[in-house]
Amino acid sequence: MDLDLILRGANLPDGRSGVDIGIADGRIAAVAPGLQAEAREERDVTGRLVTPPFVDAHFHMDSTLSLGQPRLNRSGTLLEGIALWGELKPQLTQEAVMERALAYCDLAVSRGMGAIRSHVDVCDDRLLAVEALLEVKRRVAPYLTLQLVAFPQDGLFRSPTAEANLLRALDMGVEVVGGIPHFERTMSEGAASVKRLCEIAAERGLLVDLHCDESDDPLSRHIESLAFETQRLGLQGRVNGSHLTSMHSMDNYYVSKLLPLMAEARLTAIANPLINITIQGRHDSYPKRRGMTRVPELLEAGVPVAFGHDCCMDPWYSLGSADLLEVAHMGVHVAQMTSLDGMADCFRAVTETPAKILHLEGYGLEPGCRADLVVLQARDPVEAIRLKANRLLVLRAGRTIAETPAQVTRLHLPGRPEQVVAER
Ligand SMILES: [Zn+2]
Repeated sequence: MDLDLILRGANLPDGRSGVDIGIADGRIAAVAPGLQAEAREERDVTGRLVTPPFVDAHFHMDSTLSLGQPRLNRSGTLLEGIALWGELKPQLTQEAVMERALAYCDLAVSRGMGAIRSHVDVCDDRLLAVEALLEVKRRVAPYLTLQLVAFPQDGLFRSPTAEANLLRALDMGVEVVGGIPHFERTMSEGAASVKRLCEIAAERGLLVDLHCDESDDPLSRHIESLAFETQRLGLQGRVNGSHLTSMHSMDNYYVSKLLPLMAEARLTAIANPLINITIQGRHDSYPKRRGMTRVPELLEAGVPVAFGHDCCMDPWYSLGSADLLEVAHMGVHVAQMTSLDGMADCFRAVTETPAKILHLEGYGLEPGCRADLVVLQARDPVEAIRLKANRLLVLRAGRTIAETPAQVTRLHLPGRPEQVVAER
């Protein structure tokens, strides 16, 4: 076997340890302990967790890193965020959107991100952000996969030019159909928008990802229409509901009917723990609802759930750092997924599961998969989440695209010998 690189002694997310990973021509050629082969380069990763890259299933790259433009969100609420974005939109330039997006992509790669699904607002008749992000997608393709969703932020029917703009964006090369049914004027308009958007996706053979029921209103049930339209149009396995926060507040009996309908339509779900925990429940006194969707119950019903970052330093969220381990960490807490299986599920929610939702080609750790890998300063997925571990090495198609030195601390404690400790 003629290999380009061997990583020796890796721990894998499934619990295997002491595994060698052989890489040739940008793909994984072998995964085995004690691999007998020659390679141009070898790296000792003994005891380190090696994983396929993080995948962010839900992001807004047109607004990212715009924090403070034109002003800060003083209340920290969703509504002031939407108003702020409305103030910023007419001032956007293509260059500024691209510059911010490219800066975010650099940050994402340094954090071991291999792919991002980003919504792009199409309710600006100039479609300036669409053009900018399509260009960013082309530029970053050698090191980061960017998938774009045509997102009518102001409502497909509520905004007079949204549908025409959405179709234009798809013609330009945006590949996923987005929507926001709970923001339409009435429940029936919301349901009609779900129907229309699914029909557009069916006609064009596209994936669907709607912002769906991002509300504390237990009667916001557009996810039911989404499951129904998915079945009616034969879109099984291609449709995702993002947020689904109303499910947090729904009646348990209704949810017991809804979950099997979602599983039957092979829907997937994306929760956004950082954003859901800060934006939902704002009209509550005490007790205050968490507002995140029912992650363990969805998984139990056979509906795959990914965790997205959603926002980073923009009108809606002034924090974040492109770190999906931080997202998984918040997910563990908000959903109380502290069981061993639960924490493993949370790690999958930022790796394997979003890769499936995005229909990424060649993602994984099997021979034949793309040699896109991240070496972490952690032994296993739980430690990775606990420490939000350093990304020591990020590989894309077998080539190193980012390196971070292992974190160590030198302690000078009075009355104690000097010592050097690793982060753990
Ligand atoms: Zn979103």
